[in-house]
Amino acid sequence: MLKHDSKTPFAELNTSEDEPIIEIQNVTKTFGDVYAVDDVSLKIYQGEFFSLLGASGCGKTTLLRLLAGFETPTAGRILLDGQDVTHLPPYERPLNIMLQSYALFPHMSVADNIAFGLKQENMPKAQRVERVNEMMQLVQIEKLANRKPHQLSGGQKQRVALARSLAKHPKILLLDEPLGALDKKLREETQFELVNIQERLGITFIIVTHDQEEAMTMSSRIALLRDGRVSQVDTPRRLYEYPSTRYSASFIGSINLFEGTVVSQQDDQVLIDSEEAGGQLRVRHSQPLVAGMDVTVAVRPEKVRVTEGAEQEPNHVQGIIKEIAYLGDVSIYHVDLPTGKRIQFTQSNIQALAEQPLTWEERVCLSWQANSCSILVE
Ligand code: ATP
Repeated sequence: MLKHDSKTPFAELNTSEDEPIIEIQNVTKTFGDVYAVDDVSLKIYQGEFFSLLGASGCGKTTLLRLLAGFETPTAGRILLDGQDVTHLPPYERPLNIMLQSYALFPHMSVADNIAFGLKQENMPKAQRVERVNEMMQLVQIEKLANRKPHQLSGGQKQRVALARSLAKHPKILLLDEPLGALDKKLREETQFELVNIQERLGITFIIVTHDQEEAMTMSSRIALLRDGRVSQVDTPRRLYEYPSTRYSASFIGSINLFEGTVVSQQDDQVLIDSEEAGGQLRVRHSQPLVAGMDVTVAVRPEKVRVTEGAEQEPNHVQGIIKEIAYLGDVSIYHVDLPTGKRIQFTQSNIQALAEQPLTWEERVCLSWQANSCSILVE
């Protein structure tokens, strides 16, 4: 079973030889002249916690609805467990969906809400009662069994909706902004619970979210969507550490971007001329690049270190500290380079206490390693 990224990396659990449980093949969905989903191809594997992430209107919900069978693609195919389900109605697909509204039946108790789908498929009563109890235990709402939805808090409703969606033991659960209705604190607590439940059951979860932190915390992999297309699909760690497009680099976290031109490439070491950086940059990059090509070098603020000397080496810049934001555990420093470019670096405040604290208008030498930055070509 696939585990959460922080525990077991995706690459160790799935190889290209594994059969995907979901295969989206060149799927397009148009509404009039709007391309809500535009030639998307994705493979999702058994036991993954997979997020569809992106800004409002990027096509996440449409893609989820296509998987659920509420929409039919304009072009392309969807395979679930190897079977072409492109034209199958929702109830014939081996999946369930948990809607953002939770859609609980207001006149039914919690237990009856959870039992509803099981009753519809004529599960014998004794088995049904056992399954409902098992589900209530799983999401820790046993004490609420007889309450009606209007007697529940937002977080409790979310649990009932989750229990109801899981009761039929679907192979795949689609969740549309599952934590959207919860306040920030409850949301954060529930993220871990949701991952634990998913891991325990081994069900493939596909969630739609616009919240990058949520996607980073919970997912085994994330598909970052932009204007109906996939910008990048990767593990949270790789998406953050090695973004492959300018869009993914700036969508997740803060990043420094330097425009430049490729000078040379030797093995995996690329030299780049960057006027913005005021010199040459060295980046580890294994894909072949051509001299003269325009690229962007991306480096995260926490990869930038304060150094002394060796300014002639690549990946060294000097500048003046213009802004300092104190965030408790770390501080963010904004530095103006002589080229006019402003960059950011972060420093842990434990480190800052141990050393001479940095201050406004101070001149600093900064550097980073060739394997701590990446090259973006799109
Ligand atoms: P949000 O986070 O705001 O829910 P989203 O990423 O889920 O956004 P979608 O709801 O999938 O985005 O919409 C993608 C695009 O398709 C948008 O431009 C939207 O206006 C359009 N769209 C979605 N559904 C329809 C529809 N039924 N008719 C016409 N246009 C639609």
